[in-house]
Amino acid sequence: MGIKVTFIGLGNMGGPMAHNLIKNGYELTVYDLNKQAVEEAVAVGAQAADNAVEAVKEANVVISMLPNGAIVKSLFLGKNGLIPHLRKDVLVIDSSTIAAADARDVAQACRQQDIAMIDAPVSGGTAAAIAGTLTFICGGSAADFEQAKPILSAMGKNIFHAGENGAGQVAKICNNMLLAVHMIGTAEALNMGTSQGLDPTVLSEIMKASSGNNWSLQLYNPYPDVMESVPSSNGYQGGFMVNLMSKDLGLSQELASQSKSSTPMGSLATQLYQIHQNSGYGELDFSSILKLMQKSDD
Ligand code: NAD
Repeated sequence: MGIKVTFIGLGNMGGPMAHNLIKNGYELTVYDLNKQAVEEAVAVGAQAADNAVEAVKEANVVISMLPNGAIVKSLFLGKNGLIPHLRKDVLVIDSSTIAAADARDVAQACRQQDIAMIDAPVSGGTAAAIAGTLTFICGGSAADFEQAKPILSAMGKNIFHAGENGAGQVAKICNNMLLAVHMIGTAEALNMGTSQGLDPTVLSEIMKASSGNNWSLQLYNPYPDVMESVPSSNGYQGGFMVNLMSKDLGLSQELASQSKSSTPMGSLATQLYQIHQNSGYGELDFSSILKLMQKSDD
């Protein structure tokens, strides 16, 4: 295929995304601070680089999948930042979930060097990253979006163009704020119903066929053993960590404040996830918010 792709950040999401690029025939160079993650990518056909600068020098496309905006900004704009080391015809795709303002800062620094960049955060979680069925929510010019599409198709199924740089992050954060709100509502309803002796599976079926139906009920039931293969039926292991949901809700409230938008439900969801995180549940899946509603003897 001849397109050289560099992937930086091989964690829960980036590892399987990189693997899907290899499966689709891309020549892949990888870099991560975690040596084990690099070794796992090399075992499936990637080339390892000694450092981030070496990793990107020859790349036609650079993809980053990192924990937060401070790390993304330091990688591209920091003291030994990557921008001066990139090819002029490179396309930079940042798939991390970060503040729209941070995404715009990186895009602007790229533009000053005539380098193309889009923000392309994802929805779908680790299962979709493994299956190659992620949703990509992109912000950037139409031309850069079109260039990114075939590469993103190797890792995802639905690929949206939300608008200019930063718009992908805005759409992603709106979605995750809504996700938190309906997960909390679903957990509350299930907890109240079961406290009155209802079977959580029967109650879930009733609500799915009624006006309370939503994604959490359909695909991610927070009540243990109602659904197979979801984190709640596996001790809330795997999935999407409370720590990351809490970060995303923090971003939603920054955005609400900047845009003077009223988000009372988002604000309450932020507080509830913060309490849950502070109670020591940061590494559990976000559907564990049910624990916050349950009485201690449940
Ligand atoms: P993770 O913590 O599992 O992986 C992050 C990886 O980045 C780690 O391997 C880490 O070693 C590496 N890293 C950190 N700093 C680095 C640096 N300076 N240079 C190179 N590598 C570095 O996180 P994740 O779950 O893969 O999430 C990544 C991003 O995707 C986050 O922004 C998250 O909010 C978002 N996201 C996650 C999910 C999910 O379900 N896990 C879903 C959608 C979006």
